[in-house]
Amino acid sequence: MTKKEEPPLSRVPRAVRVASLLSEGEELSGDDLGDEDEDDPAYEGLPNGWHAGSLSLRLLSSPPGPELLPHPMDGLPRGPTPRTPVIKAGWLDKNPPQGSYIYQKRWVRLDADYLQYFDSSKDAYSKRFVSVACISRVAAIGEQKFEVITNNRTFAFRAESDVERKEWMQALQQAVAEQRARARLSGVRGPEPPDHAGSLELRGFKSKLHVTVAGDRVQLYKNLEEYHLGIGITFIDMSVGNVKDADRRGFDLTTPYRIFSFSAESELEKEQWLEAMQGAIAEALSTLEVAERIWAAAPNRLCADCGAAQPDWASINLCVVICKCCAGEHRGLGAGISKVRSLKMDRKVWTETLIELFLQLGNAAGNRFWAANVPPSEALQPSSSPGARRRHLEAKYREGKYRRYHPLFGNQEELDKALCAAVTTSDLAETQALLGCGAGVGCFSGDPEASTPLALAEQAGQTLQMEFLRNNRTTEVPRLDSTKALEKHYSVVLPTVSHCGFLYKTASAGKVLQDRRAREEFSRRWCVLSDGVLSYYENERTVTPNGEIRASEIVCLAVPPPDTHGFEHTFEVYTEGERLYLFGLESADLAREWVKCIAKAFVPPLAEELLARDFQRLGRLPYKAGLSLQRAQEGWFSLAGSELHAIFPEGSREEPLQLRKLQELSIQGDGENQVLVLVERRRTLYIQGERRLDFTGWLGAIQKAAASSGDTLSEQQLGDSDIPVIVYRCVDYITQCGLTSEGIYRKCGQTSKTQRLLESLRQDARSVHLKEGEQHVDDVSSALKRFLRDLPDGLFTRAQRLTWLEASEIEDEEKKIAKYRELLAYLPPVNRATVKALISHLYCVQCFSDTNQMNTHNLAIVFGPTLFQTDGQDYKAGRVVEDLIGHYVVVFSVDEEELRKQREEITAIVKMRVAGAASGTQHAGDFICTVYLEEKKAETEQHVKIPASMTAEELTLEILDRRNVGVREKDYWTCFEVNEKEEAERPLHFAEKVLPILHGLGTDSCLVVKRHQSMEAMLLYLASRVGDTKHGMMKFREDRSLLGLGLPSGGFHDRYFILNSSCLRLYKEVRSHRPEKEWPVKSLKVYLGVKKKLRPPTCWGFTVVHETEKHEKQQWYLCCDTQMELREWFATFLFVQHDGLVWPSEPSRVSRAVPEARLGSVSLIPLRGSENEMRRSVAAFTADPLSLLRNV
Ligand SMILES: [Zn+2]
Repeated sequence: MTKKEEPPLSRVPRAVRVASLLSEGEELSGDDLGDEDEDDPAYEGLPNGWHAGSLSLRLLSSPPGPELLPHPMDGLPRGPTPRTPVIKAGWLDKNPPQGSYIYQKRWVRLDADYLQYFDSSKDAYSKRFVSVACISRVAAIGEQKFEVITNNRTFAFRAESDVERKEWMQALQQAVAEQRARARLSGVRGPEPPDHAGSLELRGFKSKLHVTVAGDRVQLYKNLEEYHLGIGITFIDMSVGNVKDADRRGFDLTTPYRIFSFSAESELEKEQWLEAMQGAIAEALSTLEVAERIWAAAPNRLCADCGAAQPDWASINLCVVICKCCAGEHRGLGAGISKVRSLKMDRKVWTETLIELFLQLGNAAGNRFWAANVPPSEALQPSSSPGARRRHLEAKYREGKYRRYHPLFGNQEELDKALCAAVTTSDLAETQALLGCGAGVGCFSGDPEASTPLALAEQAGQTLQMEFLRNNRTTEVPRLDSTKALEKHYSVVLPTVSHCGFLYKTASAGKVLQDRRAREEFSRRWCVLSDGVLSYYENERTVTPNGEIRASEIVCLAVPPPDTHGFEHTFEVYTEGERLYLFGLESADLAREWVKCIAKAFVPPLAEELLARDFQRLGRLPYKAGLSLQRAQEGWFSLAGSELHAIFPEGSREEPLQLRKLQELSIQGDGENQVLVLVERRRTLYIQGERRLDFTGWLGAIQKAAASSGDTLSEQQLGDSDIPVIVYRCVDYITQCGLTSEGIYRKCGQTSKTQRLLESLRQDARSVHLKEGEQHVDDVSSALKRFLRDLPDGLFTRAQRLTWLEASEIEDEEKKIAKYRELLAYLPPVNRATVKALISHLYCVQCFSDTNQMNTHNLAIVFGPTLFQTDGQDYKAGRVVEDLIGHYVVVFSVDEEELRKQREEITAIVKMRVAGAASGTQHAGDFICTVYLEEKKAETEQHVKIPASMTAEELTLEILDRRNVGVREKDYWTCFEVNEKEEAERPLHFAEKVLPILHGLGTDSCLVVKRHQSMEAMLLYLASRVGDTKHGMMKFREDRSLLGLGLPSGGFHDRYFILNSSCLRLYKEVRSHRPEKEWPVKSLKVYLGVKKKLRPPTCWGFTVVHETEKHEKQQWYLCCDTQMELREWFATFLFVQHDGLVWPSEPSRVSRAVPEARLGSVSLIPLRGSENEMRRSVAAFTADPLSLLRNV
């Protein structure tokens, strides 16, 4: 059971929460923890509480206004008559407040809505009231005591005797049960929202009260929390009230029993309060009891179905008044047949129009139509059994068995015509008869101006007809043939979804279901989805549900694969309150129908398109995406196959995320604060684990959907270009670390290591990051060969394998190549992409055959049998591979851009390895790098793969791309190398290669992409200055701390500097002729900022690092007097270091293509010009791939 009025836990004040913990147990000590009011200092000054007598005191000083005197209720001896009859009243001892042992005598009164207690039986206004709707339990606790337990508070009372206690408890329990049944029947949950609410000062109270005006009542609460808890001080029936303006912010609410002197926060607010309270008085006087008004028509005083007296329920579409027992059965018919409302509870429903409709139609007209032909044997009595009632009502309203047939029955066109005519008249009975005989409520009238009956009625000014049509908009036409088996009945899915039938249900769980639930664990329940609530009942005749789930509380709906549990077809419903409900059915169709209806009931229109496809999981989750990372928003998600569809409340339509193609899928954070990070090519999505239960479910489902689903190639996790991640990982690693390894691919790795590696790659290749030093290249190469050899269908597929082998025997070289190209086109896309990536890689490998000894022929010997899964005897397999490597450019249509990229990559890799070998350092083979957007924090993290050729500009754009950040003209997004220890940062030049920088980053440094705030000023300076040198005074300080010799070398001293295109020179003073120091400008790295520990004299400083040829680092600090000067120096540095190219020209940014394919999937030779040219190009590159290095 859930209730709307339950506030989220965070809103419950601490003290209340403590009390609620105590009230869980049965033993509450004598302390009145649950009800501290009588101790509350707020009540001081009102020693007499709410005695009626207090009025006289008040009157002495302030005579009542003239309005008060003629009030009809004046002079009543006792308090106002309660609106609903008193169920039980009497004296009880309320347990003493904390620290006291003396019980307090209280006059306690229970009606259908409230439990109230008073100082005396004569008091008009209670000390306390508790909404019956909020009482969760009533329990005996010994010594004739009992507790009334609400969600958060416990009230303890002591009766005079056991008998009396029993009576009280029974009365309370019954009131609670009836209240729940009423709430369910009426579909109204929780208190109606007040017409006006806020805080007011009330004379006699120290602290402000929370006051609401709802309907014809003013209710006083100690504070907002208590309002949400359903526990108040008292309420004032405005039928005896009057309001009067007093001084500036003050006003009086007078009743015959007391004057309440309020003070609002401002005069404006006072006006609003006066207006609201006057409205309440008007409402109190105008709407007498709805029931009494409806009963004014005599036939309405007896149940339309069974004849029971004083029926206080109604079906608002059938327009009949019914008793409680019949209302229960009406509910069972579903809202498509009967919309049940209470005359007493659903006050908002009962508009003047609807009441008038009931007076005109009501039971008299209703039964003239619906019960025209009831055989006496089938008639109902007030005492009829539930079964008889159900049969009768089924026949009466669902089948229309007893109805008076309209003469036009069966002629749809005539019925519709007649309806269109009837609605323009006041003949409501005719409309009722026509609708009940099948006339279409939404039929086309033929009049474009007023195309529906409703529009016609409106045109004709027939408001009652309009009301009747509106209430019947979704009513089903009775059908004799409609089957009696309720399980087969479905309401049409309409905006207000309703559905009912039997479902099998297990007890709700607080954690994700790991084990199979046996059939015995399910119980058969009659389930009704109506008015946004899914209720489940012991059987179809029960009035009180065993429990219910509000659609608005459903956060996730999941459909496990068939046969996961004892029932073939199951679905799971997750609620906000972290409960998981499992339902089962035998029939796939019925299960699908339920899933559809429930989904429709809880998914808002904005996310409706998620319902269009079959999903395994559907629901809402807090997420962060794009740049709005400050706060999580709620988005709607559905998981269908390996696609995650998302609908975000703000923002454009989202393409589904291809889970098997994610670049990254990881969980950040721990315990309570887990975040699921999904990185796709152009975007990153963070799903937050605010609710543990459904998050865990989503996590498992997404991980499963993102994993390889089988052994075939296309079932693998796929990279951007449809290459399985497993292939990509291995190829990439060999490219980075194994190109120069002797006998690469020919040598075998260690069997156990290879096996283990392949196992983990198969499980989740995406999460495997191969690192040099941890994996031997031979283990990786063996794993790749093993994977390819074990592919169930082979890389070239069983169907086509032979054709490929045959093609290798074609003698004419050109025809052979054409054949290969043709065959390639027949391969499935993933196979085709994989063949290309692999051959491209092998091409790369043989380029290094000088060092690795693996020329094309040797590679073919290894890979022929592997790729064609032959035993090595068939030389044709090797020949195909040899041909493909040899004619790779032509066969795979490789273009120039691809070639350039790969050439750069290889160049950079080789250069780096050479440099690494020279300096004796080992580079890690993992090139995944963390880059932050705007600032360094977990939420802005991006994990980027950095190919050797990637420039700072490419990285910047890649990051912006992922986060969908549009680049505006003067944003100057730049990648900064931020050194936290030195408190300095260096904007990378746009053309700088990132990878070498990455390898040089210490643990104190990171990369952050952000706007370069000074860039515009610098560009302006560079454009306007004369000459390209700069000179001037700066404050200088030397430091050699990086060498570990860093003795403090004094402070900053004024020095004169000259910066020209080749070097930076330092002079002791302006007039000095010979520089004290001199550095080649291109070997300097200039960082903005100077660490505070060095006490820089100004905040406009920079740190200059110079790396000598012996890899020694020297460091200086320079400070300028103004920011402008700093910018000028910095701009000049950039200018001379990069030959005048400080910022890329705009077009290059705008026209930038999608980032290049990554290493391993790219090729080498351009497809331009004649084939001979290409071959020469290949030959040149093949002959000396390292020749490229010499030009770098
Ligand atoms: Zn009845």
